[in-house]
Amino acid sequence: MKYSELAEVYEKLEGTTKRLEKTKILSALLKKTPADDVEEMVLLLQGRIYPAWDEREIGVASKTIAKAISIASGSDLKDVNKEWKKTGDLGLVAENLVRKKKQSTLSSSELTVRKVFSNVRKLAEEVGAGSVDRKLQGIAELLTSAKPIEAKYIARTILQDLRVGVGSGALRDAIVWAYFPIVKGLFPELADEEKKCKKALKAYSADGIKNIESYDAIEADEKVAREIYNRFADAVQQAYDLTTDFAVVAKTAKTKGMKGLENVEIRIGTPIKVMLALKTDTIEEGFETVGVPADVEFKFDGFRVQIHKDKDVNVFTRRLENVTSQFPEIVEYVKKYVKARSCILDAEAVGFDPKTKHYLPFQHISQRIKRKYDIERIAKELPVEVNVFDIIEYNGKNMIREPFRKRRELIEKIVSKEERKILPARAIVTGKESEVKEFFALSKEKGNEGVMIKKLDAPYKPGARVGHMLKYKSTMENLDLVITGAEWGEGKRATWLSSYDIACKKGGEFVEIGKVSTGLKEKPSEGLSFGEMTKILKPLIISEEGKHVKIKKHVVIEVAYEEIQKSPTYASGFALRFPRVLRIRDDKGISDASTLKMVEKLYESQK
Ligand code: AMP
Repeated sequence: MKYSELAEVYEKLEGTTKRLEKTKILSALLKKTPADDVEEMVLLLQGRIYPAWDEREIGVASKTIAKAISIASGSDLKDVNKEWKKTGDLGLVAENLVRKKKQSTLSSSELTVRKVFSNVRKLAEEVGAGSVDRKLQGIAELLTSAKPIEAKYIARTILQDLRVGVGSGALRDAIVWAYFPIVKGLFPELADEEKKCKKALKAYSADGIKNIESYDAIEADEKVAREIYNRFADAVQQAYDLTTDFAVVAKTAKTKGMKGLENVEIRIGTPIKVMLALKTDTIEEGFETVGVPADVEFKFDGFRVQIHKDKDVNVFTRRLENVTSQFPEIVEYVKKYVKARSCILDAEAVGFDPKTKHYLPFQHISQRIKRKYDIERIAKELPVEVNVFDIIEYNGKNMIREPFRKRRELIEKIVSKEERKILPARAIVTGKESEVKEFFALSKEKGNEGVMIKKLDAPYKPGARVGHMLKYKSTMENLDLVITGAEWGEGKRATWLSSYDIACKKGGEFVEIGKVSTGLKEKPSEGLSFGEMTKILKPLIISEEGKHVKIKKHVVIEVAYEEIQKSPTYASGFALRFPRVLRIRDDKGISDASTLKMVEKLYESQK
């Protein structure tokens, strides 16, 4: 196919901001593109020569393109630079200068889509000594054969700045519109209906499906046509979710139709779209959605990684960027501790402090994702632990249709439990709300965000935000509370004050709102410890009665909890469910403590 046809389409696309218009333009082009050119065409339409997840880049500096324009158009480099400065767009510069020259010479050969594509790819593959020169020659050669508007888009493609605005939604719809009506025999089981609804199908294709509602006239056939259309659209979406490459999707749709789309294979090394979570505000509602018993897991505060293993290991982010070289330790752990010839794992990489081994919030490690230098050092300073929570492929077998229960079993079988390296995400299976609450509190205590509640018999749905996994995070604001009393512990905790009475402010007074004994550690190396707290509180003891002591109001602690309840037990009239100490607020005095008014407001907000 001639490149000029593509260049004209670029012009049209640039001329409209309306998505529907763009979709129409794209689908018309796809319809007339021969099967052999479809993949190149679809990539070029997106201004790419590799799919989005592919790390390879064209790697040509704009200066080199300016030089190539000068060579191809016979213009002085100074003039090229002047024009460039004026327009800020080397594409326009190429167009204008090539036009000037073309008035005096006649263009020799016609460029094809394939030729432009393969020449631009060659640029990307040029490396080593003399590569800059060879790239320059390659571009100049392309521009010399180009018509003015072709030159514009060749320059922009090489710059990776196409500026025609083809979004993935429009491209996906265009693929559906282009190939849905013309592929015959897609639905053997619907063959009769297909014949019947030919008219409807034709009408659809004529108007690019956009006016479904206006085809009421062919009512009887419309329903079937719509059904077929929807199934085809779903198949296109699913194929995209598995390949994340519209070029492959379009080619499959055109040559193999519906069946081909439905049988698209997962490929190791090609990232697939991840399944997304929904949210639940209560555990009860969570159970209602996923059924009981459910799988309940720690919800880690890290970042998602999709790990592909065969001979090599590749690591992709949730946005499908390849971050393998940024995380050498992940590659090492997967090679060492995952027993599989090939697999694709879905996991959360969580940062931790290498000294205390405590998890760190995501912000701490986020800098590693973009890091290009000093990788080994930063990997030691800010290491990650890989928590594997799903498996998508295993030894050549596509696992997405297997129930989650099976996938989880497999993870436990093939991933060894290597704390602070790699391990199956911590999980329980339960149908009891109280057990989820306890597990939630444990998860929070370990520095996680909350829990995930997952449906045991659900498949893996790439790219979909379906109710197969739900996140449950407490949204309650932490309280800063004053310690008014404490209790000596039992057994090996006998020398520690291990439970604390906590109070909020009510005017000038302090009223109790409960007791807290979790969140502190036994070993000082693990964080704020009972020993440390005892040392702080002991000098503040006012009186003792049995195991209980009264404490002078001085220490403020930050307390997290799951819920505020009404309670006659405490003077405030409220109690906290699952409270845990986060830290001592030595930056706050007792007059800065949370007030009873705040507590009342939070209580109301829960409803
Ligand atoms: P959110 O980003 O708030 O929508 O929550 C969903 C994200 O939680 C997922 O994309 C994962 O990155 C992350 N996550 C942490 N732990 C888990 C887990 N055990 N299972 C699934 N996702 C998890």
